[in-house]
Amino acid sequence: MTLAPLISDFYGFEAQLRDHEKEALAALRADLEQHLKPIVNDAWEKAEFPREIIDVLHRHPTFGELWDETRTGDYSALYGGWTALELARIDASVATYVGVQNGLAMGSIGVCGSDAQRAEWLPKLRSGEVIGAFGLTEPLSGSDSAQGLRTTATPDGDSWVLNGQKRWIGNATFSDITIIWAKSTEDGQVKGFIVPTDTPGYVATKIERKQALRIVQNADITLTDIRVPNSLKLEKAESFKNTASVLRLTRAEVAWAAVGTAIGAYEAAVAYTKERHQFGKPIAHHQLVQDLLARCLGKITASIALCVRVSQMLDNGEQRDEHASMAKAFATTSMREVVALCREVLGGNGIVLDYDVARFFADAEALYSYEGTREMNSLIVGRAITGVSAFV
Ligand code: FAD
Repeated sequence: MTLAPLISDFYGFEAQLRDHEKEALAALRADLEQHLKPIVNDAWEKAEFPREIIDVLHRHPTFGELWDETRTGDYSALYGGWTALELARIDASVATYVGVQNGLAMGSIGVCGSDAQRAEWLPKLRSGEVIGAFGLTEPLSGSDSAQGLRTTATPDGDSWVLNGQKRWIGNATFSDITIIWAKSTEDGQVKGFIVPTDTPGYVATKIERKQALRIVQNADITLTDIRVPNSLKLEKAESFKNTASVLRLTRAEVAWAAVGTAIGAYEAAVAYTKERHQFGKPIAHHQLVQDLLARCLGKITASIALCVRVSQMLDNGEQRDEHASMAKAFATTSMREVVALCREVLGGNGIVLDYDVARFFADAEALYSYEGTREMNSLIVGRAITGVSAFV
């Protein structure tokens, strides 16, 4: 299968992928157009995750070893980034499902797990046999999760006892395991645990009435005296620094998903300008409409450039926290501007689900805030610039 150029990849960055990566991306694009695009607006309106898409997604090399910084696999971080873009270009919620499964859940085990934990869980997560979630955020702790977690983990013989609450946990209404981050009552440091969701005392409740990423099944989780054997404590998750090393990998992927979200809205807007007539001609003929589109494409192109470079840095083993944070903050901010301009291009139809732009417009708000708000990511960049931490 050949990869037809994206009209929105104005400078042709995709050409930097290797041939087998281009083929894989083309196959993914075709499957998403065929299986996801026709059902996505209904699923969004009903706030349901289309479970049938899981099998489609997992037959692609989308689920790779993002966490493997030796980059010995067949697929580069650059390819991983393009897949996040491609997924979000059709739907940001499905890109989020992949981001949680492939990035946050597999990444936690890949980065912080023992050899035995990696061998047991990663193949099942990669195939989709096991669905994962990632529980860091709490009702009273979002941006300050490095220090503000209230969920506790207490060692007790050959197991740990966990108590607390989590909020916003994606995939968690149907996950088989959730990675739970909790503060040890022994040394006060954050530890990570692979928690099977059928553990007694674990309860996940869907968050209803969301107005962004409605397809993502976010849950509130309550943990009441749940007992987790030592074998399920992530061996190398000894402090929040380890959690942060997982987030660095996934933040760059969110930057790519933000570009995909912007592109989804932009492509829908471009198509609309050719169909919609006003003053006796398609609105594409009006200079001010072209100006809106040109501004969108400029922002998209700048964001792709940033994302390409941040993935290349990961491929070369050069990526640091501040690199991923800058990409996430910049790309999500640009995305937010692009979806608003695209909404404008569609006039009233920009707020109707059938024209797609409304969905991208709403979903952009969640991408802007999750995996570190713009302010948090700016503070990470600011710390790198000045050498001074200004979080508190
Ligand atoms: P708050 O931390 O309360 O922040 C509110 C505002 O205050 C923000 O604008 C923030 O930037 C600002 N602020 C806070 N502190 C400072 C400061 N020091 N300086 C300047 N400004 C500051 N979490 C998970 O663990 N797992 C998931 O799977 C997951 N999925 C999510 C999916 C969705 C759709 C959403 C919306 C969230 C998800 N989250 C998940 C949680 C997400 O990571 C948090 O929402 C995010 O980190 C922000 O936390 P908060 O919502 O509590 O906002």
